[in-house]
Amino acid sequence: MGIIVQKFGGTSVADSEKILSAARKAVATQQQGNQVVMVVSAMGKNTDMLVDLARQLNSRPPAREMDMLLSTGEQVSVALMAMAIDSLGGEAVSLTGAQIGIRTDSSHTRARIQSIPTERMRQLLDENKIVIAAGFQGIDEHFNITTLGRGGSDLTAVALAAVLKADACEIYTDVDGVYTTDPRMLPDARKVSQISYDEMLELASLGAGVLHSRSVEFAKRYGVTIHVRHSFSEAAGSLVVAESESPTQSVGGAAVTKNESLVSVKEIPDQPGTSFTIFEKIAKENITVDMIVQNIGLDGRANLSFTVLDDDLAVTQDAVRKALDQLGSGRLECRQDVSKISVVGLGMARQTGVADHMFRTLAAAGINIQMITTSEIKISVLVDRERAQEALRLVHGAFSLQDSPADARTTAIGKATESDATEVASDLVGMEGLRVDDVLLDESQGRITISQIPDQPGVAAHVFENIAAENIFVDMIVQSDGSDGQASLSFTVPRNQLDAAYRIAEALVKNMDGAVASYSLEVAKLSIAGIGMRSHTGVAIRSFESLAGESINVEMVNTSEVRINLVIDGNAAEMGLDALSRAFADVLMRKPTGSVTE
Ligand code: ADP
Ligand code: ASP
Ligand code: MG
Repeated sequence: MGIIVQKFGGTSVADSEKILSAARKAVATQQQGNQVVMVVSAMGKNTDMLVDLARQLNSRPPAREMDMLLSTGEQVSVALMAMAIDSLGGEAVSLTGAQIGIRTDSSHTRARIQSIPTERMRQLLDENKIVIAAGFQGIDEHFNITTLGRGGSDLTAVALAAVLKADACEIYTDVDGVYTTDPRMLPDARKVSQISYDEMLELASLGAGVLHSRSVEFAKRYGVTIHVRHSFSEAAGSLVVAESESPTQSVGGAAVTKNESLVSVKEIPDQPGTSFTIFEKIAKENITVDMIVQNIGLDGRANLSFTVLDDDLAVTQDAVRKALDQLGSGRLECRQDVSKISVVGLGMARQTGVADHMFRTLAAAGINIQMITTSEIKISVLVDRERAQEALRLVHGAFSLQDSPADARTTAIGKATESDATEVASDLVGMEGLRVDDVLLDESQGRITISQIPDQPGVAAHVFENIAAENIFVDMIVQSDGSDGQASLSFTVPRNQLDAAYRIAEALVKNMDGAVASYSLEVAKLSIAGIGMRSHTGVAIRSFESLAGESINVEMVNTSEVRINLVIDGNAAEMGLDALSRAFADVLMRKPTGSVTE
């Protein structure tokens, strides 16, 4: 007999019929000889409705009271679910997060799980009861109700599966699995048999709302296999596991965020510590930023651009203004008419020609790329919001994501490995804490920069096609916001190919009005790798702070869920490595222990 965790999302419990249907599934699973823990979301759009109500009374409702309010949605669902099971002749007990004892930190509306005792749930399961847990909520050390962030019931489900060492963690929803992109955005999207944690993590944080990104992070950390399935079907869904679907495919999925704004901070002092001053203020508000790009403008002034979710824009603007007051110069420009299109794939790290293929596809349709950032396993571009859907469709087609790869595989469903599970049970604080596995220095690359590139479609495609034609492996790519005619494109290549890459760049700028190519043979790439790199907003800040403390300028940055990469002057390589190692000494190579954002 095993433990099965079954999570039902809002649409799957939207009315009494649906609640009964979910109840039947749980009862049937129990009758097959399993112990069943259900995790249930608020009914339908109930949470949205509550948010709306709160906003009618107060444009910035106190976060503690918001949690008090939002947690009621799940409380309604678990009680109704228990009644439904009772009506089917089963036995069930509903529990709130507090009744289970899901302890979190006190960051209301985005609390992190610290510990979960299992005694009460186990006792009920042993009494043959179905345990119905309210998703998305916990309690802090002062008995305040907390919530885990929108969509957080997924996280509750994965966390319960981990601490209970469940045999399966089934996420029932309104799609029958994980698709290559949101099937609602693109009917061509294909259901994948499985997807790797790292790919799913990136996709989830880049807009694939099917799973909460922190639930995937948690699953990866504790080795939980997630099975995403349709609530009203028996068919197998998609597995989220360590391995990707295909060992050879370069791109496994695509995503779009339509609700992201571009923030550009222009004419700030070009000196170490400037970015830190700005990001520090933003991180204090617990806001995650993406697509960080900085470039040197005219007269020793620098520009910094990044994206934040539309919902976070107002608070971000306030934070940046405070920073600009402190810096004594700079101006802020924001745009909401942009969308981020990303492709993700583990195979990308090993292949050339992925970036230029994406750029060319967009250029061929006359879609201008306004910004570019990459990481080892993703490429993100910023385009006009009104062309986002078209861009997604084109990119999805360009990588043939609608076709099943010939070497698709399916990993058997396994339960959390014994060692991981033991760690979970004995780990009393900071289950979601930051974990840094490594601080690394790579001195094998050089940087090419093309500044003052024309802000028009096709430039990036042109550059990287020529580079790919010479079989030059490009690692990091960063293109800054070009709205003021000051866009620059920087990329890193192996040092022994720098010469060849620079010659190509020089030839190309001859045909680009006003563009200038330059290179640096000696750059150092510093990386911080681990779990929670982006969701813990304090990680980037710590990096910037520690390098600024040594007067080291950061030339290029990119961030992913599992890694932050920073390019600095090669002469400062060792000093930079030292500074970062010291900054992360407390979380380096250790078991998860609390968060740096606190
Ligand atoms: P639930 O209420 O069950 O948690 P969500 O609305 O949070 O459901 O997530 C399911 C939705 O996620 C689907 O309806 C789908 O439109 C969307 N989605 C976005 N990206 C993907 C993807 N790559 N694969 C599957 N669904 C996706
Ligand atoms: N009800 C919460 C929300 O709508 C949590 C969830 O559904 O996962 O965000
Ligand atoms: Mg959801």
